[in-house]
Amino acid sequence: GQCIQWCPSGAISERDDINKVFKALADPNVTVVVQTAPATRIGLGEEFGMPVGTNVQGKQVAALRKLGFDVVFDTNFTADLTIMEEGTELVKRVTGELHHPIPQMTSCCPGWVKFVEYFYPELIPNLSSAKSPQQMEGALIKTYFAEKKEVDPKKIFSVSIMPCTAKKFECQRPEMNSASKELNDSNVSPDVDVVLTTRELARMIKRAGIDFASLPEEEYDKLMGTGTGAGVIFGTTGGVMEAAVRSAYFLITGQQPPAALWNLTPVRGMQGVKEAAVNIPGVGDVKVAVISGLANARKVMDQMKAGNAPWAFMEIMACPGGCEYGGGQPRASSPPSDEDRNRRAASLYNIDAKAKLRNSHDNPEIKQIYADFLTAPMSEKAEELLHTHYVSRADDFIPKKSEDKKIF
Ligand code: SF4
Repeated sequence: GQCIQWCPSGAISERDDINKVFKALADPNVTVVVQTAPATRIGLGEEFGMPVGTNVQGKQVAALRKLGFDVVFDTNFTADLTIMEEGTELVKRVTGELHHPIPQMTSCCPGWVKFVEYFYPELIPNLSSAKSPQQMEGALIKTYFAEKKEVDPKKIFSVSIMPCTAKKFECQRPEMNSASKELNDSNVSPDVDVVLTTRELARMIKRAGIDFASLPEEEYDKLMGTGTGAGVIFGTTGGVMEAAVRSAYFLITGQQPPAALWNLTPVRGMQGVKEAAVNIPGVGDVKVAVISGLANARKVMDQMKAGNAPWAFMEIMACPGGCEYGGGQPRASSPPSDEDRNRRAASLYNIDAKAKLRNSHDNPEIKQIYADFLTAPMSEKAEELLHTHYVSRADDFIPKKSEDKKIF
C-alpha cells in the first residue's frame, strides 16, 4: 500500500493503465467488466470535494457505467466468498482435517503476502491458501460470469478499482491465471487485466468531464454484485476478522452468530496490534489477533518464531489502519490524521450496521454460486479457481537497509 509510494515510475505506469482501460472501453468487441473494492466507496468522494468518509457507493457505480463499463460488480461479493473459503480452511486446520499449522494468517493483502515471502518464508504454511477477493472475482469473471452470460472469455477485459498500489503487482503474479488454466486457453489471461487505484478512477471521471456530485445512485449488476455488511468492513483494520468470526461461528455450530459478535469492539480502532477471545460453543475460547502496519507485523512475527503465538487466526494488513488509507486512496493530508482514519472506518461500520445482510454466509449470490458452480467451499473447482500458493523470495533479497523501501 503506502509502502510502494516511493516508486519513481509510479506516475508513468498509472497513466499507462488508465490509457489501457480507455482503449478497452472504446472497443465494441470487448466486454469490460469492473469490480470495486470495499474501501473505494468511502474514499472516492473526497476527490470531488465531499467530506472525509462520505459513502459514494451508488455514484461510483453510476460513474463507471457512464465511463462505458459494461458490467459493474462489487468486490464485496468475493470478500464474502473469501470468508467462506478461508473460514472453512480455518475450521479444517483447527480440527486437524487439514495438516497445516495454526495460527492461520490472512492472505488478502498482497503487501503483507510479499513481506512474508521475503522475510518470513518459514511462516508461509500459516498463510491461508485463499486468494484475495480481487483475484477470486477476476477468476470468476472469466469463468462463472462468462458461462452464465454466454460471453466469450477471450473477449472479456477485467478491471479492478482498488485502494491499493500493491494490487497492481498481485494481478501480475504468474499464478493468477486460473481462468486460463480452467478453460485450457492461454488467450484467457490474466484473471485481472488492469488494476486502477481509486485516485486513477477519479482522474478518469474528471477526464471524461462527468459531474460526479450530480450523478444518481445506481445499483451493482447482479450475479457478483451483492455484498454483505461483513464484506464491506474488509476495508478497515479488523474487518476481515469480524467477518470471519461471524461465519466461523456459523460453520462450526450451524447457528447464526449472537448479536454480540456483530460488533466485535476489541478488534476495532487504529491500534497496530489488537487481540480478542471469542467463545464458540463446543470449541471454547478462540483467540484472534489483528495487526496493521508492517513494523507491527514484524514484531508479532518475531514473537511467533519464538513460539509465542496463542492465536487461532490472525488478520494482517500492510497499511496502518488497513485498506481505507491504502496507497491508492485519495488523501487530503499525508500521513492522515487518526481523526480522518476513524471517519473512514466509521463510514464502513455504518454501512455494515445498516445492511440487511451482515453475514457472508447469508449472501444469496454466495449461496447461488455454490449451488450452481462451485459445489462447496474448498471443492475441487473452488481449489482451482479460488486458492493459490506462495513462494519463498528470501533468496531474491539482498538485505541492504537502503533497499528496504524499494520492495515495500
Ligand atoms: Fe493494499 Fe489494503 Fe494491503 Fe494496503 S492494506 S497494501 S491497501 S491490500
